[in-house]
Amino acid sequence: MARYTTPVCRRCRRAGMKLYLKGVRCETARCPIEKQWRNKPPGMHFWQRRRPSEYGVRLREKQKLRWYSGVLERQFRRFFDEAQRTKGSTGERLLILMERRLDNVVYRLGFTSGRKAARQLVNHGHVLVNDRVADIPSQKVKPGDVIQIRDRKASRDLVQQWLTEEEGRVVPPWLSADPPNFRGEVKTMPSREDVSIQLNEQLIVEFCSR
Ligand code: SF4
Repeated sequence: MARYTTPVCRRCRRAGMKLYLKGVRCETARCPIEKQWRNKPPGMHFWQRRRPSEYGVRLREKQKLRWYSGVLERQFRRFFDEAQRTKGSTGERLLILMERRLDNVVYRLGFTSGRKAARQLVNHGHVLVNDRVADIPSQKVKPGDVIQIRDRKASRDLVQQWLTEEEGRVVPPWLSADPPNFRGEVKTMPSREDVSIQLNEQLIVEFCSR
């Protein structure tokens, strides 16, 4: 399976904002975005670059969403096509589809410290959806779905360490978490306001519809 191997903090510096790709470290002063001398685009000649073109601005918005969700280009396009086929605003639908991904839900419930770890947890078969093993991170959850960590020592020990680290994490209102039982539930469909990243989805639609 293809995966990114470049340093992830570069992506935040390129986006000019925190994308929360490194778990607990993102909340500490060690985050490069928190340091004035490091909070600048990567590359030694960044100050010589011209203002981005209209294309560049749109490309950047698309990349922000892709990096934040941890998906590759082809998978992103599949989500965009699906958002186009459904009723309503394409940009909003795209963000909601991304938010409904199982790896994102596992992360938002506080079972892991980042989306990358959540993806691995799902891939390795530690997560159940409605009492069945779900090992596809891109699976979309729906209201009423129950997400649970498998009742095995290895799975629960793994998650327990994150639950301790992530104690106090705010669970979004469309989910309900029950950490002592390693369980969570999808209460409703997420809305645009539930997507925590700040971006202009209209620019993404314009980029992808060229
Ligand atoms: Fe790195 Fe996280 Fe800070 Fe992004 S938010 S720069 S991934 S530490």
